[in-house]
Amino acid sequence: MLRKNDIYEAEIIDYTAEGSGICKIDGFAVFVPSVAVGDKLRVRILKVAKSYAFGKAEEIVEASPSRISSDCPVFGKCGGCTFRHIRYDAEVAFKQKRVTDALSRIGGLDPGLIEPIVGADMPSCYRNKVQMPVTKDSSGIIKAGFFAPRSHRIIPLDDCMLQCKAFAPAMEIIFAWANTYGIVPYDEATHTGVLRHIYLRYGEKTHELMVCIVSKVRQLRHEKQLVEALVSGLPELKTVVLNINPDKTNVIVGKECHNLYGEGYITDELCGKRFRISPLSFYQVNRTQAERLYKIASDFAALKRNETLLDMYCGTGTIGLTMADQVKSLIGVEIIPQAIEDARKNALMNGITNAEFICGDAAEAISALNKRGILPDCVIVDPPRKGCDGVLIDTVALMDPTRVVYVSCDPATLARDVKLFSAKGYSVQRAVPVDLFPRTCHVETVVLMSHNI
Ligand code: SAH
Repeated sequence: MLRKNDIYEAEIIDYTAEGSGICKIDGFAVFVPSVAVGDKLRVRILKVAKSYAFGKAEEIVEASPSRISSDCPVFGKCGGCTFRHIRYDAEVAFKQKRVTDALSRIGGLDPGLIEPIVGADMPSCYRNKVQMPVTKDSSGIIKAGFFAPRSHRIIPLDDCMLQCKAFAPAMEIIFAWANTYGIVPYDEATHTGVLRHIYLRYGEKTHELMVCIVSKVRQLRHEKQLVEALVSGLPELKTVVLNINPDKTNVIVGKECHNLYGEGYITDELCGKRFRISPLSFYQVNRTQAERLYKIASDFAALKRNETLLDMYCGTGTIGLTMADQVKSLIGVEIIPQAIEDARKNALMNGITNAEFICGDAAEAISALNKRGILPDCVIVDPPRKGCDGVLIDTVALMDPTRVVYVSCDPATLARDVKLFSAKGYSVQRAVPVDLFPRTCHVETVVLMSHNI
């Protein structure tokens, strides 16, 4: 029987879906974070459950061949990266296995069907969006950081290797302003203070920078000085937005935005089309890999001029609009009003006249489209991590498109939904994992399903 604080020697044999190492001790699966498959370790047991336990690496007895030394001072403490301690080829191998395991075990697919993962050429500096909670460090200086794993304790950082280089100078200006004027960071526990999050976005192709300050209060003190400092210090600055989030919630942004400078949005280019992006709209965080993802989705969709395409969970319309030229008509559905407004403007901006965008819940909107008699030839779904609503899957099947392209950011819910689709007569033809989130445990997958005839 394992006991808390006992130390055992063990070898890491696999990873969990979240990227923790797994070793077997006395028949227990013991989960150990920030280690590598192939590591021989001395493991201290921290917590024992019925058939599994949690442990901590006390000492590396023999390092795995895939180990590298981490290049970040807060790796392991910060909840951002899962893998700064293994080679990138080992990370993509883990992701390939994660998708294959989910799709074969939960989805019932033949593992041979899953094609090789599309890895990233640039595993660093790829994120074009950052949202950092604000805090004071041990010496009382205002800083931002990320939450520690599974906690809301902020780990202050000076730099983050996943972020675009354009963000560090903006952060510096905001901290200097906040420290000069004694702006009080928001405290989640007491729901006091002002400055909640610093939220930045960058159009890598257009070099347009957005600064968004998430504040608990509507009237930010010394707001004018902040805008002046940002405008004079950042040549790429396009807009400054104040987002107000007065609620006791862990949702980062509130519903209300005020432009302090510029138009309240930036534009970027994806697959040759221009897109405007507002603070409340979703936009893919890894532009280079998103283009590869969309190219695969487009190949899978194999659209024809006389066809109708349905783009469910469309965000600012990016997937559908990059394919609109290939079809007769495009309908996009999305729940966030600001994203739909962006999608409509994006169609206009790109001279696309065959697109319609509907704001609403995906399952409800698709039922309404079905009642309208819309018969799409191809349906693309790109839901959030929780996957598709069952009603949506039923309704897609009723509409009877010949192809369904599923873009997923969670292999487990993808596998569950693939099984639901298969019960409705759709079978998976192709599946390709794409690494949109290097150094984290997340992985995207594109699946083509077609109707069994
Ligand atoms: N396809 C887009 C966005 C994908 S992210 C792109 O590639 O950029 C998932 C999107 O689903 C988000 O924009 C989110 O706001 C939206 N969403 C979440 N729940 C939804 C629901 N119930 N109905 C419709 N859209 C939803």
